[in-house]
Formats: sequence, C-alpha cells, structure tokens
Amino acid sequence: MPINTTDRTIDTIDRATDRANGQELSWQETALCAQAGPEFFFPAPGSSTREAKQLCGACEGRVACLEYALTHDERFGVWGGLSEKERHRLKHGSR
Ligand code: SF4
Repeated sequence: MPINTTDRTIDTIDRATDRANGQELSWQETALCAQAGPEFFFPAPGSSTREAKQLCGACEGRVACLEYALTHDERFGVWGGLSEKERHRLKHGSR
C-alpha cells in the first residue's frame, strides 16, 4: 500500500500536538497560581515578586512551568518561581 505523505504528516503533527497539550495540561491542573489573581504573578513594574515565588516553591508543577516559560519565551510575570529577569539570566547567562 502506498504511503500518503500528507496524511502521515498530519497524523504526526496531531500526535505531537496532543502530546504537547497533555504535558501542558498536566502541570496546569495542579498550578497553585490558578487560585491567586493574575496581578499576583504579573505584578506592576517595581513591585515585589516574593509572595508569588513562595507559592511557586510549593507548586508541584514548578519545573514543568519553568520549562514551558523558557521554551515559549514568556517575557512577563513569574513562572516556575523565577521573574522575567531571572529567566533571562538563566537562558542567556548572567551578565
Ligand atoms: S510554578 Fe508558580 S507560576 Fe508555575 S504553575 Fe506553579 S504557582 Fe503557577
């Protein structure tokens, strides 16, 4: 039977999307920040991120959340216990 390249490509993309969505959902389902307001994790410039980071420290999905933020280049807010500056330093090295 000949292989239909288009169907195979679409099937591969579908499986990759399902896998990615499943991974994202698994950590988002236990996200402690879902119980806090968005201003808590997206504080105004110059505001403290200490409380958000403390909540992240107790979150089961912290590592996956941080990986997601680094992979998707999330620029704003606290993700996985790190501020945008801390994620930038982690990704690009400290200067
Ligand atoms: S690590 Fe922090 S930002 Fe990430 S899901 Fe948990 S509480 Fe939310």
